[in-house]
Amino acid sequence: MAKRDFYEVLDVSKGASADEIKKAYRKKAKEFHPDRNADNAEAAEAKFKEANEAYEVLKDAEKKAAYDRYGHAAFEGGMGGGGRGGHPGQGDFASAFSDVFDDLFGDFMGGGGRGGGRQRAARGSDLRYNLRVSLEDAYSGLQKSIQVPASVSCGSCNGTGAEGGAEPSTCPTCSGMGKVRAQQGFFTVERTCPTCSGLGKIIQNPCKVCGGAGRVEKDRSLMVNIPSGVETGTRIRLAGEGEAGMRGGPNGDLYIFIDVAKHEIFERDGVNLFCRVPVSMASAALGGDIEVPTIDGGRSRVKIPAGSQSGRQMRLRSKGMPALRGAGQGDMFIEIAVETPVNLTSRQKELLREFEKESEENNPEKDSFFKSVKGFWDSMKS
Ligand SMILES: [Zn+2]
Ligand SMILES: [Zn+2]
Repeated sequence: MAKRDFYEVLDVSKGASADEIKKAYRKKAKEFHPDRNADNAEAAEAKFKEANEAYEVLKDAEKKAAYDRYGHAAFEGGMGGGGRGGHPGQGDFASAFSDVFDDLFGDFMGGGGRGGGRQRAARGSDLRYNLRVSLEDAYSGLQKSIQVPASVSCGSCNGTGAEGGAEPSTCPTCSGMGKVRAQQGFFTVERTCPTCSGLGKIIQNPCKVCGGAGRVEKDRSLMVNIPSGVETGTRIRLAGEGEAGMRGGPNGDLYIFIDVAKHEIFERDGVNLFCRVPVSMASAALGGDIEVPTIDGGRSRVKIPAGSQSGRQMRLRSKGMPALRGAGQGDMFIEIAVETPVNLTSRQKELLREFEKESEENNPEKDSFFKSVKGFWDSMKS
């Protein structure tokens, strides 16, 4: 089969610039990529080789000049018109392909050319730590020592993973390379060695403590500052305190998720606190002072106005929760719950009956209201 013209192969004109030639070659390389030619691999391989051969010549100014002058003859039978290295395209196909593959790979990944971005060091995982705090702690903020799981070098095998600290032996599958080559379609693929997972070494007798990993999980203690004002759902990020990175990669972050425990007497709504205070019937009717606990651990005196009904709210300014990051302070609301007296002595009962009688005489309107209600029910019955 006669050799096709190199310009024709790459689909460029004779006057094409080096850049245009490169572009045209990449286009062909993508077109004949094995992933796109699964059912026609052999033809694609031939086309790829042809494009590769053309590019090898046209990308080189000297070779291009020779080709322009002598055509294919420039590279045949020792008529070297300045072309070094004999016939292009007949060299190591895998390495030629790997050149273009790197090139393409760099393009696809937005990386900086050959090999760039391939062995990117793996960042450690982020860790989540759930921390339950009391409402009092959420009010004042706290410093707390927490235990975070971490991987540390195994002391039993000095991190080698082999029992007794013996040196691991070279992996027989990859001869210590960590990678194996396999033929896939028409090109060679390098992949991580399945026997040693890319480490190049294997362990005959794995360490019993770490199971051959060379690392063990061990809790690490960490002092954390929980600011005042945290709520359930608040996340605190500790940069770099997550899992260690692999191969020198950056550490992950540690996120502390706050859960504020339910309080015995205070209910929280944002920065405000609510609490129900039982008040005796007499105090509610006559008025008086009560003492209520506050979240800061102190007590506050609150005046109950005479005639207070159940459900009446009073506000204690700035006795609520602090806002996160010092943005003000909430209030505390006290709701009165009037208690009906129980377990009365006979004297108390007597007093209450007297009280009731006095109330009826004192409040004829109420009396007439009950009469009208009774009248309504009577009419319903008849
Ligand atoms: Zn191996
Ligand atoms: Zn070990």
